[in-house]
Amino acid sequence: MALYRKYRPKVFSEVVGQDHVVSTLEKALKAGRIAHAYLFCGPRGVGKTTVARLLAKAVNCLDKNPPCGKCKNCEDIALGRFIDLIEIDAASNRGIDEIRDLREKIKFAPSVGRKKVYIIDEVHMLTREAFNALLKTLEEPPAHSIFVFATTEVNKLPETVISRCQRFDFRLGDEALVSNNIKKIANSEGIKLDEEILSLVAKSSGGSYRDSLSMFDQLLPHLSSGKTDLKQASKILNLSGLDEALHFVGLLKSADIPAVIGYIDELSMKGTDFEQFTGALVRLFRAELIEAVISGLECSWLRFALERLIEAVSRSKVSPIGSLPLELAAIDICQNSSNNQPKAGRSDEGGAQSEALRELDSIKKPAGNPGPIASPQIALSPEGRLAIVEAVRSKNKPLGALLAAAAWRVEEGKIVLTVEYKLYQNKIMSKDNLKLVSEEAEKVLGKTVLFGCVVEKVSEGLSADMVGEIEDVFGG
Ligand SMILES: [Zn+2]
Repeated sequence: MALYRKYRPKVFSEVVGQDHVVSTLEKALKAGRIAHAYLFCGPRGVGKTTVARLLAKAVNCLDKNPPCGKCKNCEDIALGRFIDLIEIDAASNRGIDEIRDLREKIKFAPSVGRKKVYIIDEVHMLTREAFNALLKTLEEPPAHSIFVFATTEVNKLPETVISRCQRFDFRLGDEALVSNNIKKIANSEGIKLDEEILSLVAKSSGGSYRDSLSMFDQLLPHLSSGKTDLKQASKILNLSGLDEALHFVGLLKSADIPAVIGYIDELSMKGTDFEQFTGALVRLFRAELIEAVISGLECSWLRFALERLIEAVSRSKVSPIGSLPLELAAIDICQNSSNNQPKAGRSDEGGAQSEALRELDSIKKPAGNPGPIASPQIALSPEGRLAIVEAVRSKNKPLGALLAAAAWRVEEGKIVLTVEYKLYQNKIMSKDNLKLVSEEAEKVLGKTVLFGCVVEKVSEGLSADMVGEIEDVFGG
């Protein structure tokens, strides 16, 4: 069993680094003042779901000192088989159906426990429609129900939801807290951990307890043999992955899209875990952003990059293609890089890369056509585009992701999407998908729209014969 699961806190006193949350919750429980909705905010791997489950135990525990972690109900919750604890992962259940189902069933009293507890993880990923349905439940929650919403991106939640919850902000651990936690677990496992390795793990975890333990997990078999030094440890943890991440940041800064996509392909071949790799990128960009802010440098590009990468991390959990969210984010970041990087971070290469971007731009416009002309019949605002993407996304998530990643333009009365791979084009243009896109676009724009889709294989360099792909444009 993974260490993170094996040592998941069974009672409140075992929770590390979130004393401000735990003590408030314990006081409320003692006083019998339980809110009907809680909002747990904070980065991944710091214990939000763990504390949510402890709360579920506390309100359903059979002992006089809840949660005891030992009674039937506490055990069933720990084993994930307690019927009155319903966990929904919004990252994979964005749909209105799950919330409708929830609304349908919430009115029934708990079967075995005192309270029905609903934990909705990554709640910000719910669709607007699903939020609205949820809000209606939140307005008049049955007395026997408790909601716990967990999110890594509270800024994406509607104010109407936030205002109905008691909010707790979970914190990342500092190096001391993280390494003490590892040390304690190492002791229980009978492993003596070298201080240098301990510090390496604590630092590389970026304050995420879960990440630190999965790193420790990776080291464990090697540590037992007792012959692992710092260098080997760093190799085992693929902190050379750090080298890869640094190299990748360099490519992003140079806005060299073909090189970026090529490198992602390379990583893909090596079996890279893209959620982890993108997480490493987030940490690097965050460090750089902080430095830029302190030094008073322009940092809008860094912020943009960071936001897109964070999005990519949460999407990589549900993406049908592991590397896709990073590809999409990277392309956006490169296309956004022209003028906005911190001045100190720019090199002479900048000129040449802007040149490459301009070239890419000109290729996007098919030769022989008089360039993109806003059709007199269709006006497509960025908001309109977004509305179409969101409408499609709520019905077909992968398709929505592809639309979000495509470049859109209006041309001769058609909306023309530019994608990176033939595969994406086939997907968008398949009969059912095209029908869905056209229908949603018609709802948003109030008229029938024709769609076309062209491929630009940026990963294979910029060549004029891409323009040939334009023949693939067709209407719906
Ligand atoms: Zn109990």
